[in-house]
Amino acid sequence: MRRTKIVATLGPATDRPGVMKNLLVAGVDVCRLNFSHGVPHDHYRRAKEVRAIANEIGRTVAVLADLQGPKIRIAQFQSGSVTLKVGMKFILDAELDPSRGDETIVGLDYRGLPNDCGPGDILLLDDGRVVLKVLDVTGSQIFTEVVTGGKLSNNKGINRKGGGLSAGSLTDKDYQDMKLAAEIEADFVAISFPRDAEDIHHARHALTKRGSKADLIAKIERAEAVASEDVLDAMISASDAVMVARGDLGVEIGDDRLIGVQKKIIARARALDCPVITATQMMESMISNSMPTRAEVFDVANAVLDGTDAVMLSAETATGEYPIETVLAMAKTAEGAEQTNQARALGARVEAQYDRRDEAIALGAMYIASHLKKLAAIVCITESGSTPLWMSRSGSRLPIVALSNQSRTLARMALFRGVMPLAFVSPEDQPMSYIDDFVVGQVADILVFPGDSQVLLTRGDRLNNPGGTSTIKIVSVKEARRTVGGD
Ligand code: PGA
Ligand code: MN
Repeated sequence: MRRTKIVATLGPATDRPGVMKNLLVAGVDVCRLNFSHGVPHDHYRRAKEVRAIANEIGRTVAVLADLQGPKIRIAQFQSGSVTLKVGMKFILDAELDPSRGDETIVGLDYRGLPNDCGPGDILLLDDGRVVLKVLDVTGSQIFTEVVTGGKLSNNKGINRKGGGLSAGSLTDKDYQDMKLAAEIEADFVAISFPRDAEDIHHARHALTKRGSKADLIAKIERAEAVASEDVLDAMISASDAVMVARGDLGVEIGDDRLIGVQKKIIARARALDCPVITATQMMESMISNSMPTRAEVFDVANAVLDGTDAVMLSAETATGEYPIETVLAMAKTAEGAEQTNQARALGARVEAQYDRRDEAIALGAMYIASHLKKLAAIVCITESGSTPLWMSRSGSRLPIVALSNQSRTLARMALFRGVMPLAFVSPEDQPMSYIDDFVVGQVADILVFPGDSQVLLTRGDRLNNPGGTSTIKIVSVKEARRTVGGD
C-alpha cells in the first residue's frame, strides 16, 4: 500500500473520455478543482463525475476546491504577446485600457499595485520568467527596466520579490466561488495567498456563512507567511491542512530559500498535527513527455522523505498529454521513497505528554505496532478522524485502516499519509467484541493478510462517540474469522 497521497488537478485533459476513471484507478486520492480556470458548470460536472466513479470503484476520493485568490495579473497585449529585452524600459499602468498593451506598456488588473511599489523593487512576471526592476512610480504608472527578458503574453501573473503586496486574501470572485464550493459540497477549500492566521479565520467564517462545511487548506505562498515562525505556526494551527504552494512561494522568496522552507513547513505541520500537501511543478516535464526526469523523481521523493502527506499535480493532469502516466509515475516514486529508513523513522514522539487519553492511545498504538511481530495492520474505528491523524504523524510500515460511518470524516482522511479510509456500517445489536471481530475480518478480506496475522485495533467503549477512543486491542485474524464466520 502506498502511504503518500496524490492530489490531481482536473481540467480539459481529464475531460477526455475514460481519463477520469483511469486517473482514480491509477491512485488519485484527492481531485482538485482549480477555480482560477473554467466556469462553474465545469466544476459541477467534474465533481459529480469524480463522486460517481469513486462510488463505482469503492474508494474514497475527496474533492478540493481551490479559490483563485488575489493573484495580480497584467492585462492584455494588442498582439497577444510581446518579447521584452534586457535594458528596455517598460511601464505597468493600472489605468491603461486592458487590451492596449504593447512593447512599452501594459495594463494591470489590480489598481493598488502602484501604491505598493517603489524604486528598487523587483517584480517577477510569469513565475519569474520575466524580471522587471522598478525605477519610479507616478500616479497609476510603474516605470521599470527589464532585468531578465523573454516572451510575455496576456494575463500573466505578477509577484513582488520579498512579498508585501497589500491585496487582501479574498476577492469578490472568491466569495462567489465559496457558494459554488458549498453547492458542490467540496470536502476541502483551499485559500490562496493568506497572509496570516487572521485571514484563515476570516475565510472560515465566510465559508461557513455560505453553507460550506469543507476543511480549510491554507496555501503557503506569500513571503509574509514564512517570515516568522510565529506567523507560520499560527497559520498552520488555524487551518485543517496546509499546502506548500511552491509556484508563488518560490517566486517570492527564491528557490534557494524554498528548499529549506519546504522542509520547515512540512516539519511544523507534522509537529502541529496538520496534514500537508507539497505542490507545483513536481513532474512538470510530463505535461508533454511520457516519462519524468530523474530530477523530478527525486523532487517527489524528497517531499516524501520530508514527511509530506500528499504530493500534488497541476497542469500535468489538468492539461497535460499524459495524465494517467504521470499519476502512475508519481505513485511509483512515492512507494520507492517510502521504503527508506528515513521515511519510516519520521516523527517518534518519545518525550510527548498529553492531556487527552485518545491522543496518548494513538501514540501508544504506534509504539506497540512497531514492536509486535506478525502485526499486519493498525485498524481504528473513528468518528472524527482524530485518532488516525495522530497515528499518521508517526512513521510506520503498517497500513492504518480507518473505518468510519461519516462521509465527511472519510473524505478528510483521504489526505492523511498512511491512512486508508474505509466506509463502515456496523452490524446491529451486537456486543463490541463481535464488532471488533467483524471489523478485523472485513479489513483482512480487503488487504489479504497471511493466516496467522494479528491486527491492532483502537476504538471507544461504544460507537458514534467522537473523542471517545479509549481502547487498544490486539485481535487474531484467525479467531476473528472464526467468530464472524460462525464456525
Ligand atoms: P496555484 O497555487 O497553482 O493556484 O498558483 C499553487 C502554487 O502557487 O504553487
Ligand atoms: Mn499559487
